[in-house]
Amino acid sequence: MVQSSRIYPFRPEGSLLRHGFQLFWASLKEGLFGRRYKMAIDITDRCTNHCRHCSNRERGDARQEEEPTPEQWEERFDGYRRRGIISVIMVGGEPALRPDVLLAAHRRFLHVTTITNGQIKIPESFQRRIYVSLDGPEEITGRLRGRGAFRRVLANYEGDRRAVLNCVLTAENHQVVGTMMEIVREMGVAGVSFNLYGPNIGEQSPLILSREQRREIEQQMLEARSKHRSLFFMNRRMIRWLCDGRHADRCLWRSRTVHQDLRETPRKCYSDTFDCDQCGCHSGAVTCTGLNNLLSLPMFLRLFFG
Ligand code: SF4
Ligand code: SF4
Repeated sequence: MVQSSRIYPFRPEGSLLRHGFQLFWASLKEGLFGRRYKMAIDITDRCTNHCRHCSNRERGDARQEEEPTPEQWEERFDGYRRRGIISVIMVGGEPALRPDVLLAAHRRFLHVTTITNGQIKIPESFQRRIYVSLDGPEEITGRLRGRGAFRRVLANYEGDRRAVLNCVLTAENHQVVGTMMEIVREMGVAGVSFNLYGPNIGEQSPLILSREQRREIEQQMLEARSKHRSLFFMNRRMIRWLCDGRHADRCLWRSRTVHQDLRETPRKCYSDTFDCDQCGCHSGAVTCTGLNNLLSLPMFLRLFFG
């Protein structure tokens, strides 16, 4: 195993007390005036992969020329800050294709995270939490994400303490929770979190999890968490929220986060036709049971600050 020389965990400028106050103030304004402070931003529509479980399969042949320039991104981010945004998650497409945008956000916002397929290494100057997708051992990850995907993740992120492996569980790999714990330990990354594959409304796919499989996953996760608590980046509340999945009636990730595509058009979480009654979204679990719940504060601090 490669030993990490990284300076992670990230610490915000100033004291944790100041940071806590900023967050409290932003939450208060959100509660009183509905002023949202969290954003999920598509920073590119391009991707290196064609995963079978991608929720963005319709993106087509996106081209870099159609994306905002680095200067335009900086202007956008400054504008978001003026609007009170302090927390951003950068998604896509594949965010590692735009390291300039990641670093521009890193310089500006209090909370910055991103989720990558791990095929391109994000520069070490981006000292924030990085969710790296890996869906089980080499053969299973290869089936879902393409041949060679597993080895490239290992080559890029072994020993990297910024990285939390992010495993998407489907009907084809729903028994890999225990195996993921071994992979995390061998790789020497910070830990692991899980998403469950969720379909668009009306979708028929062999990847969709049954209710029985969701219950099995919940048990696997609770057991794995009790054995490897320091590596498991989800608490019990998050696990239960995630595995239940029936959130069409209420979801704070939907109502309290600005979701925006590359052209700054509001969009829904995952896709506009996603079935929120078969949700398996880790960000939803964090927001609904973590960010807005004092009892989950320790987990929240680990998520952002290592
Ligand atoms: S890496 Fe992500 S965006 Fe790219 S194809 Fe796979 S799931 Fe979709
Ligand atoms: S998919 Fe899940 S997290 Fe996303 S808006 Fe729907 S219920 Fe919320």
